[in-house]
Amino acid sequence: MSKDKEEIICEEHGESTMAYVCTHIYSAKDDEVVGFYQSYIDLLNDEVYEYNAWCKDCDERLSQAGNEWNDLLEKQADIKTVCLSCFENFKDKQLSLNPAEAEVCFVPENKDITKFYDRADAHINLANKKTKKEKPEDISESFLFAASRFAAFEATLTAKDIEKNKTDVIDYYALRFREMFVDNLTDYIENKKEYLKESK
Ligand SMILES: [Zn+2]
Ligand SMILES: [Zn+2]
Repeated sequence: MSKDKEEIICEEHGESTMAYVCTHIYSAKDDEVVGFYQSYIDLLNDEVYEYNAWCKDCDERLSQAGNEWNDLLEKQADIKTVCLSCFENFKDKQLSLNPAEAEVCFVPENKDITKFYDRADAHINLANKKTKKEKPEDISESFLFAASRFAAFEATLTAKDIEKNKTDVIDYYALRFREMFVDNLTDYIENKKEYLKESK
């Protein structure tokens, strides 16, 4: 799936997939919130993903223009080509500073997307079944606890020198959860009517 992606040589990360960010994300200072609006990726159908993101101001201008990029918008965005690791770092930074100013697409590390969704659905179906007898908030809390329990098992199994790297390991999992949650929450907010009707 990733065969046809264009490659870039990054000074910091070496050979990597090409990604694109607006100049405002690119030049934001360490603690500067500019937002992170990633273009939608259809994981099941897009053969080659394009990693594109722009800031809140660029996103507002884009919505005002009817969500169509034009020459002026492109000039204002002044898109920079970066490597995928740099792209992830920009995203992590903005997600940590202010996740409410971010719209991201979670892309799993394992590229077998069908299996990824099948596993997730199996867990979601189990949780959904329980809503017949128990409160969503109680189910969700147990679900979250179970996810953290399994993640702790997996981290202990795979992380190098877990005692020494404990802080990094915690940050890594917390950030991934944040990314998944922001992705799903944005989706729910946008499709609230349809999704909540289905669940009744
Ligand atoms: Zn921008
Ligand atoms: Zn890089």
